Amino acid sequence: MIISEEIQEFLLKDALDRFIRYVQIWTTSDIKSASFPSTENQLELGKLLSKELKDLGLENIVHDKFGYVYAGLPPSKGFENVKPIGFIAHLDTSQAVSGKDVKPVIHRNYDGRDIKFSQNKEITLSIADSPQLEKYIGLDIITTQGDTLLGADNKAGIAEIMAACTAWQKFPELKHGPITVCFTPDEEIGRGTRKIKKKFLPEICYTLDGSEMGQLEIECFDAWGASIKFKGLNVHPGYAKNLMINAIHIASRFLSELPEAESPEHTEDREGFYHLMNLEGDEEEATATLILRDFELKKNQKRMKYLENLKNLYELRYPGLKIELNFLHQYQNMLTFLEKEQKAIDLAKNAIELADLEVKIHSIRGGTDGTKLSEKGVPTPNIFAGGMLFHSRKEYIPTLALQKAAEVIIYLAELWTKK
Ligand SMILES: [Zn+2]
Repeated sequence: MIISEEIQEFLLKDALDRFIRYVQIWTTSDIKSASFPSTENQLELGKLLSKELKDLGLENIVHDKFGYVYAGLPPSKGFENVKPIGFIAHLDTSQAVSGKDVKPVIHRNYDGRDIKFSQNKEITLSIADSPQLEKYIGLDIITTQGDTLLGADNKAGIAEIMAACTAWQKFPELKHGPITVCFTPDEEIGRGTRKIKKKFLPEICYTLDGSEMGQLEIECFDAWGASIKFKGLNVHPGYAKNLMINAIHIASRFLSELPEAESPEHTEDREGFYHLMNLEGDEEEATATLILRDFELKKNQKRMKYLENLKNLYELRYPGLKIELNFLHQYQNMLTFLEKEQKAIDLAKNAIELADLEVKIHSIRGGTDGTKLSEKGVPTPNIFAGGMLFHSRKEYIPTLALQKAAEVIIYLAELWTKK
């Protein structure tokens, strides 16, 4: 199946119209808030989307008190036995920059020159900020007025999923199995899956929360936390000879033995690191907090072994010193779960190619909601939503990305209908 020009044009128009509407609804989440969702206004967008989903003929719509929206699209006739899949996007935007009173601006036929902002003369958006812009010359680019973020992260994802639902309703030739749509609150503050109801989700889901057009993310860090406690002995410094065991001083020596090249500031792509986040204490006791990151569990295990060897060495070097070493596995590389569902990855690649884009496999140097969902038993690769320079006043998206991501959703659903 090829998506016709008519449907492509429809997707562009529908997704763009939705995107412009959704970004104007203020949904910044708040890490300091103890309530769930962290901000009331996320419920407003959820309410609007629930209504729109209902009007589009989706069923079993739930908008729960935590702000999650779930909806089911019945399968095309004859495709009742196809494996159900889900599409997920998040409602909130980052606190990094204001998301209130967003006024999107469309720059038609982008000419490659610096983009200026009406509400902020201090900044411009140029190819130096985002090399991808060069590829987008000739396209329509959406930016802000320079005083807020845009919120393409993740309202582009929402608009694309909604546009696909609209197309499924309007063009019955687009075949699909049972589809679940889910919109989540508080992703940006790390709570996006905390109250998600797994029973409402199918066995395979896709988040539309990636960045550049064509991108597919199937891998994230294997992540560990480490805490190292140094227990020394304090004595009056004037009478400390052969007695004092200065915990904080020894701790700083110990930490200086970590390989400098394996730190966040010296690594990129697939390289892992040790990252010292905090060191506090005194002569008596000192505690260091670190994180260890890598794409391969084995490499993190080597780092843990290195720390254990250092502990043994330091306890020998400073008799009386005690070092307590504790590791906590924070999250696992989602590839370990996705590998068991190779089909979910392969079909996503196929769908991106069918949308006439080059597939860009990208490894996330962090974690996502998809990571946590994959861990909970719902393998969830992350597909591009098209927005660039997230969490910034310079955030932008080419309108074509809205159409292309919607196409990918439609192709993907169709591919799942085939054996
Ligand atoms: Zn996001």
